[in-house]
Amino acid sequence: MMAEAATLTGRVALVTGAGKGIGRACALALANAGARVVVNYRGSVAAAQAVVAEIAASGGQAHAIGADVSQAAEVERLFAETTAAFGPVEILVNNAGITRDGLLLRMSEEDWDAVVTTNLKSVFLCTKAAMRGMLRAKWGRIVTIASVAGINPNKGQANYAAAKAGIIAFTKASAREVASRNITINAVAPGFIETDMTAALPAEMRAAADTMIPLERFGRPDEVAAAVAFLASPGASYITGQVLVVDGALA
Ligand code: NAD
Repeated sequence: MMAEAATLTGRVALVTGAGKGIGRACALALANAGARVVVNYRGSVAAAQAVVAEIAASGGQAHAIGADVSQAAEVERLFAETTAAFGPVEILVNNAGITRDGLLLRMSEEDWDAVVTTNLKSVFLCTKAAMRGMLRAKWGRIVTIASVAGINPNKGQANYAAAKAGIIAFTKASAREVASRNITINAVAPGFIETDMTAALPAEMRAAADTMIPLERFGRPDEVAAAVAFLASPGASYITGQVLVVDGALA
């Protein structure tokens, strides 16, 4: 596994919500490129430890740290513990996210707040926390997982679409602020990807989605992670403030 182009050897990477799904795939891909990876999780320590074990079994280095990235104090602790374990974060992947779908008239304030805080505020908190060390090092890579829902929103996802569109605007604004310091900030916007998030969709919605995707299938988490690893790699050094859509031509 480590024999592949190890373009990130020794770099310190933090992936939020990395116990499963797209986050897990990003942790594996960055470790595969040689990075030392902090696997952040909120729910299942066992899942996060399994990711750490998988990386270690392939000759990589990883460490699991629990933290709710929607909470400022938790983010502060996450970055302090990451620095203690491996050093300052050089590559940040803002992946943690949730959905609480529903038509607007029936959407509670709690569903709005939970989605916006978890998907968008967490990106503000983690990006800001990562930037301090990156500005000092004059090097950094930040990749945030947006969604095609932030570009072409569907009904029933006003909270999620607003948060993901917010991520895209945040990415463009923050990228311009730190570009002169050799820090790139980009977003990856997946379409339908096979994870627990889409497994929760009703069967008829999944079948309808399949017919709308020109590639005629859902994507795999590793296909999103490949785009993330590219944006973190030396090959992407002149790309910043961009949104890379990974959706089988859905959008
Ligand atoms: P998932 O539910 O499998 O994984 C989400 C992860 O985020 C989980 O590990 C969860 O514990 C973690 N998480 C949630 N809230 C957290 C918090 N407050 N602090 C720390 N971790 C937290 O879903 P996924 O499909 O792998 O989603 C990953 C990202 O990709 C999300 O941002 C999601 O919006 C985005 N996305 C997914 C799809 C898709 O089709 N699956 C499409 C577009 C975008």
